[in-house]
Amino acid sequence: MTAHTTDVAVVGGGPAGAAAALAAARGGAHVMLFEARRDIDKPCGEGLLAGGVEALEELGVAVAGHPFRELCYVLRGGGELRLPLDPPGLAVARPELSGALTRGLSRAGVTVRARAVRVERAQDAFLLRDGKESRRARTVIACDGAHGRTAAWLGRSHGRTRRHGIRARMRALQPFAGVEVHLGGAYELYLTPLSKTLVNVAVLGHGRPRSGALAEALRAHPRAAEKLGEIVTPPRAQALSSTRPSRSSAGGAFLAGDACGAVDPILGCGVTIALRSGRFAGASALRYLAGENPARIERDYRRFLARELRLRRALAAALAGMAPHPGLLAPLAAIGRRAPGLLAPLVSIATGVNGRRPFVHAPTGSR
Ligand SMILES: Cc1cc2nc3c(=O)[nH]c(=O)nc-3n(C[C@H](O)[C@H](O)[C@H](O)COP(=O)(O)OP(=O)(O)OC[C@H]3O[C@@H](n4cnc5c(N)ncnc54)[C@H](O)[C@@H]3O)c2cc1C
Repeated sequence: MTAHTTDVAVVGGGPAGAAAALAAARGGAHVMLFEARRDIDKPCGEGLLAGGVEALEELGVAVAGHPFRELCYVLRGGGELRLPLDPPGLAVARPELSGALTRGLSRAGVTVRARAVRVERAQDAFLLRDGKESRRARTVIACDGAHGRTAAWLGRSHGRTRRHGIRARMRALQPFAGVEVHLGGAYELYLTPLSKTLVNVAVLGHGRPRSGALAEALRAHPRAAEKLGEIVTPPRAQALSSTRPSRSSAGGAFLAGDACGAVDPILGCGVTIALRSGRFAGASALRYLAGENPARIERDYRRFLARELRLRRALAAALAGMAPHPGLLAPLAAIGRRAPGLLAPLVSIATGVNGRRPFVHAPTGSR
């Protein structure tokens, strides 16, 4: 086995891994990124909130997408809440996002290896093994997603998988003003317009994924179904992990993105968190390589993640708990109508930026 040395090894080439690798490479480090899969498509709602759009800009990654300026919560049985987004979000299909990030990695000189790796601690470094070769790295950023295993040596606590997500792309039969979220019953349905004719449909539900769940979810939300034509990309399901690591960094190793413990996708901010935490982890690895005090770097990283995750987790858990019961959400819609400004902080928690415009509420059943 040959042992090569790199400054920063990144495990996982999703949004978190790409952002981490870009941030570290732009700061002058030699970076290697390992990605297990060749198929870069992944179940996702494909709506990127403003904080994520901003992170992409800061990383110098240009991505073509379809801007959305509104989130509309449609309650089963009547009623809806429209939340204008200013700055807007961006609907972008995962293959497009991956392509843009991959081009950025190549421009930044990151070496990308299409393999799954296992990470072990060596005395003063890390060993990355892929079965054939082993490489040494001075720092490691684990971005291997919600079901990744790299975090194990940081002390992973096990949560239970109680929810699942399904994604399909479908024809749009009519134009969408923005992202629509249909709530009520066993499923939540996210409709993200990728273009005038194509919509990403993401279904979130409780329990493990079942075959036929997409059709079931569309039957349960006829106001969504009437806007959708044939399936363009067949449904793909994923169990949602609620596993959270007990530590996010130690001795030159950092976790970023879903590997830190995914926030329920009901809030639509997973990619935003992935890009932002990846970027912060890349910058933290640079500080480690520069010889800064490791305890200070870890404290800063811990605080950063707490700011990114704490309120979003609480908000996502509350929303996921209320989603099956539209009656519980109706008062929230009423608050939005009477005192729209009161909901502004909730939207900024999800988007990661302070909205500049107040919210407007459409009267119950106005659609
Ligand atoms: C149904 C659904 C809808 C969603 N909707 C939205 C939405 O609308 N907006 C939003 O912002 N977020 C959404 N999310 C969440 C979002 O998809 C995730 O938060 C985001 O993909 C996390 O990025 P990541 O880079 O941390 O992990 P991932 O995107 O999961 O990437 C991890 C990568 O690591 C690789 N990997 C794993 N182990 C190894 C290994 N040992 N070696 C090498 N590579 C490895 C995997 O192959 C994978 O490519 C949704 C999620 C689901 C399931």
